[in-house]
Amino acid sequence: MDGNTNAAGSHHFIGNRWLASSTGQTLDVTDPSDGAAFAKIARGNAADIDAAVNAARRALGEFFNGPWGRMTATERGRLLMKLSYAVADHHDELARLESRTTGKPLSQGRADAAALARYFEYYAGAADKLHGDTIPYQSGMTVLTLREPHGVTGHIVPWNYPMQIFGRSVGAALAAGNACVVKPAEDACLSVMRVAELAADVGFPAGALNVVTGYGTEAGAALAQHRGIDHISFTGSPVTGTAVAQAAALHHCPVTLELGGKSPQIVFADAELDDVLPVAVNAIVQNSGQTCSAGSRLLIERPIYEELLARIGATMSQLKVGPALADLDAGPLIRLNQLQRVRDFLSRAQHDGVPVAAQGIIVEQAPQGGYYQAPTLLRDVPADHPLAQEEIFGPVLAAIPFDTENEMLKIANGTNYGLVAGVWTRDGARQMRVARRLRCGQVFINNYGAGGGVELPFGGVKSSGYGREKGFEALLGFTTLKTIAIKHG
Ligand code: NAD
Repeated sequence: MDGNTNAAGSHHFIGNRWLASSTGQTLDVTDPSDGAAFAKIARGNAADIDAAVNAARRALGEFFNGPWGRMTATERGRLLMKLSYAVADHHDELARLESRTTGKPLSQGRADAAALARYFEYYAGAADKLHGDTIPYQSGMTVLTLREPHGVTGHIVPWNYPMQIFGRSVGAALAAGNACVVKPAEDACLSVMRVAELAADVGFPAGALNVVTGYGTEAGAALAQHRGIDHISFTGSPVTGTAVAQAAALHHCPVTLELGGKSPQIVFADAELDDVLPVAVNAIVQNSGQTCSAGSRLLIERPIYEELLARIGATMSQLKVGPALADLDAGPLIRLNQLQRVRDFLSRAQHDGVPVAAQGIIVEQAPQGGYYQAPTLLRDVPADHPLAQEEIFGPVLAAIPFDTENEMLKIANGTNYGLVAGVWTRDGARQMRVARRLRCGQVFINNYGAGGGVELPFGGVKSSGYGREKGFEALLGFTTLKTIAIKHG
């Protein structure tokens, strides 16, 4: 890396340099565990995005002949592998940054840092396995396809899993040969900034990876509108995703949208309940329910409804919620308005007579200023109630009984979302039949991956978005296909 450091924070990372915002303005970063500001980031705007796009364009060169553009796929893969090792070497530092800014328990921060290293490792190995094809055509002709990078790719990242979502998106984009401009979430971006610095340290050329911080409506909107961006990958809420897709459409820029979910855990009476229990609880408690693929609906076949509810309730009522670095079962929510949103849903439950079956414990040591919500199990939630339809994005599990497979499918498919589903049954024919009839992007049978592994294509249908990230599939999305037809006689 040439030059300055981000010791004081409040800089963008553009062209391998730390640069202050063009306006000099900054934003506070708050620790959700106590509600106190502890760092600053730069408040980016259209001029900063423009600088980052220009740096990325220079790295690629006009004809992919710039320092990044002319690198071979193998060389790009090697750099990604070095970055994977650098992330592993800084595992503890990155985990702490992630936990401090997001509020997640430290062991989850560690898991996220390990996943980030794995994303770079995976895409390092994949970089030079991505290639085009030859197509049989007319006599005297050869037709081939080239998988080319889009060019400059924009990446808008949310606050719930900053490192993981950054890694899955940027890892694939860089492996495919794109230069990246990233706009992480204003609430939690310190880990991402540090990884960008590590990328420069291991030898990524200036401009291959740029990060501009700031508000979504300023820096994020400027990125989506920028005519120098050739592809946008957005992860966040459906409302913002729509705004990003609209802005991108004005310059015919392709978009991948990873939006929210209301994912069902479906438990049939023949399921192995000892296996269901820890997984179903974790699927809603992990990251305090602020996970797009959270298993936020629990659909239980009637004969085991009471038994499973009792067991899940007993487990949930033992869960401890407290500061991120205390590393308990769950941490705080990201910010006050998110906490208020969850409380509003719970008030609605009370008002509409939806019973609370169990609640966890907020520990006494949790600072008053933190944004804590006890995990809550609601029972007998009507399938059409907002609690069973809307993404709460908090640790609230809605249990719904069902009597038949068809009734279950109507409920499971009966929201605007379609991201992930978990199916628990020992009946092999039913596993496959139900998996085929669920409208979503991923189905887990007798397990639940909350987004699954690095290798598994991930994304949704309906309001959960379109396009796929993760796995080899993501690489295809970060390329455009060129057909070359040669007449040679
Ligand atoms: P959000 O949509 O408000 O913000 C996401 C990102 O978009 C942030 O970086 C934000 O600064 C930026 N942004 C905000 N307004 C913008 C605009 N007008 N133009 C461009 N960028 C803008 O969402 P959030 O509150 O940060 O995250 C919560 C939501 O994200 C939930 O609905 C959740 O389900 C979803 N999510 C989905 C996935 C997934 O993979 N499907 C992963 C994480 C979060």
